[in-house]
Amino acid sequence: MSSDLRLQRPAAVVGGGASGLVAALALAAGGLNVKLIAPPRATDPRTTALMDGSVRALEALGVWEALRPRATPLRTMRLIDDTGRLIRAPEVGFRANELGLEGFAWNLENETLLTALDEAVAGTGKIERIAGSVTGVVETPDEVTLELEGGASVTAALVAAADGRNSPCRLAAGIGMRVRDYPQVAVTATLAHSRPHGDISTEFHTRTGPFTLVPLPGDRSSVVCVVSAGEAEALAALDDEAFARAMERKAHSLLGGMRLVSKRGSFPLSQRTAERFAKGRIALVGEAAHIIPPIGAQGLNLGIRDGATLAELASDAARAGGDIGGPEVTEAYERRRRSDVASRGFAVDLFNRSLLSDLLPVAGLRGLGLWMLGQSPGLRRLVMRQGVGPTRDVPRLLAGKPV
Ligand SMILES: Cc1cc2nc3c(=O)[nH]c(=O)nc-3n(C[C@H](O)[C@H](O)[C@H](O)COP(=O)(O)OP(=O)(O)OC[C@H]3O[C@@H](n4cnc5c(N)ncnc54)[C@H](O)[C@@H]3O)c2cc1C
Repeated sequence: MSSDLRLQRPAAVVGGGASGLVAALALAAGGLNVKLIAPPRATDPRTTALMDGSVRALEALGVWEALRPRATPLRTMRLIDDTGRLIRAPEVGFRANELGLEGFAWNLENETLLTALDEAVAGTGKIERIAGSVTGVVETPDEVTLELEGGASVTAALVAAADGRNSPCRLAAGIGMRVRDYPQVAVTATLAHSRPHGDISTEFHTRTGPFTLVPLPGDRSSVVCVVSAGEAEALAALDDEAFARAMERKAHSLLGGMRLVSKRGSFPLSQRTAERFAKGRIALVGEAAHIIPPIGAQGLNLGIRDGATLAELASDAARAGGDIGGPEVTEAYERRRRSDVASRGFAVDLFNRSLLSDLLPVAGLRGLGLWMLGQSPGLRRLVMRQGVGPTRDVPRLLAGKPV
């Protein structure tokens, strides 16, 4: 088949979660025709802290303006050692303005984000949205045919598989996952509180994992409370008022009295990384490629970088008259995404283990590290910069530039 014919064929995105919607918008912004295959979605009561680069990307995609009034900047991040161990780390505060940023990240409700992304997709002529699920994947050297329920099919030169943690496309491509399970569960909820949060995100380091309060518009914060499986069960058994009181106790009443204002969530912690991020013409995006514990707000920020990188590579190939799903694109995608995902996963794993460990030297090292961060503005800036996002191989969209 001639390369001209290949170029006329669209890219397909499978999955209408945030990673898939951003990938579809980015591919379309790069000038490609996109078929987005997505079943209707369930409501998502969680919130997401979007790092500065993700915000720049949403700005460039024309989505941020609608989201900005409904998001809260994390101007300060406060870390408090609540392990009760012999060696305790000093309290450390990071201020985004030390990096010249208004916020390290912006926190908003997933429903708000997903609705805005859905609307942007609906308003983009280059995206055809097809309601349904992929039931089969047939790949030839030149194309991928996605079979849909009901007998229809879609053929594409490149597939961005953003079909979530159990990714049928990943399974069809025969890509395995490296799995690491943790003995913890993240309990999530949004709570209203009687004292203002002052745009401060507070992370208490406890013996079972971090307990994090992330500010939302108004006197509300989302809570990600990482506890043992047994404690998660005990929390689930509480009625809403008792649950809010338990959260207030964990927050040491820092934000005053608390009241539950959302559904609660419960997510067993694990880390999963695909053995390959691309195979043939299928590239894995978002949780289809990597699942990371909800510590340090990394998951969707990685998913956005996946979509932005794939769109950049595919649209560069199209502009150069190349094949949008050819090995040059998919191999570069694998190379460019691997180190970002691996380094975030490593850091989250190390931090989580340091909290769970009862070994004195481990607590000592963590305390020393935090003490040094408190003392050295240079070191603090370095760590803050890394936490906000990678400094190498950053896709153009993350710098707010066109795809
Ligand atoms: C408690 C918690 C807090 C978090 N907080 C943050 C945070 O603050 N910041 C951050 O960056 N990340 C955070 N994350 C991570 C973030 O929520 C995930 O990275 C993100 O939701 C993953 O989005 P996704 O689009 O990859 O997957 P999903 O949202 O799971 O979407 C996958 C989509 O694929 C669709 N699909 C499945 N099968 C098929 C099929 N056969 N055909 C077509 N479509 C299909 C599904 O219907 C779904 O819509 C958090 C995660 C948790 C658990």
